[in-house]
Amino acid sequence: MVMDTKIVQVKEALHSSEALLIGAGAGMGVDSGLPDFRGKEGFWKAYPPLAKLGIRFEEMANPKWFQDDPDLAWGFYGHRLHQYRNTNPHAGFSIIKKWMIPPKTSFVYTSNVDGHFQKSGFEDRGILECHGSIHFLQCMRNCGRDVWSFPEDYKLSIDQNLHAREPLPSCPDCNGMARPNILMFSDYGWDSSRVEKQMDAFSSWVESNKSKSLVIVEMGAGLAVPTVRLTCEGILHAWENEVTFVRLNPREVDPTHGVVNMRMGALAALKLLDQ
Ligand SMILES: [Zn+2]
Repeated sequence: MVMDTKIVQVKEALHSSEALLIGAGAGMGVDSGLPDFRGKEGFWKAYPPLAKLGIRFEEMANPKWFQDDPDLAWGFYGHRLHQYRNTNPHAGFSIIKKWMIPPKTSFVYTSNVDGHFQKSGFEDRGILECHGSIHFLQCMRNCGRDVWSFPEDYKLSIDQNLHAREPLPSCPDCNGMARPNILMFSDYGWDSSRVEKQMDAFSSWVESNKSKSLVIVEMGAGLAVPTVRLTCEGILHAWENEVTFVRLNPREVDPTHGVVNMRMGALAALKLLDQ
């Protein structure tokens, strides 16, 4: 079968390539049991109180709630923080980590804010979280304080209507309201400084390695917010040496030239590639 031959080629390239780029979107977390907020039904199933209020994900992921209804804003993000902390990343993360053993050089580009690559032991300096991370906070008053990490033992008390009880997270410098350092919709106040440093690291990595042979493994990256896809495709075209590009996605495959599509979930595909 043609498909099998292509998968064998990808497997061989995973062994022989000098560089590896991982692109991960929301579908990567699904196999760990995390909701991907796909469509309003999926989102409302995960958040019944928001279904009652008729609020869709695109509406809830908006910084205005921290002003209009901070208890609900922190109820939503606090619930997600607890969920990401209490969920163990699936076995696919360890498979990828095994592929990254030096001298192969590697980088992770993810739109996920769950911090699960770090939780799986990936090194921070080789990760770009293009939408930020829920494990970091920023001041809403822009008092000048740099982004800071969420204290690990910080736990919010959230009631069944998804409202957090005071005290809510606040800025240690000015005591103003704090918010997650995540890029939301219509978000003009996002502090991108942490991600800009990650972007610099990623650009340097591309610059110093683009003459090496590369494998790109893109997984769970949909078309709704296509940042991960576009970045991976951009690297495919900009790279100077040979590139093997495999896209793992159960639904949204496409005939992009030079891409091997595996129409399956991330974990199942990673296991298959690791056989
Ligand atoms: Zn402040």
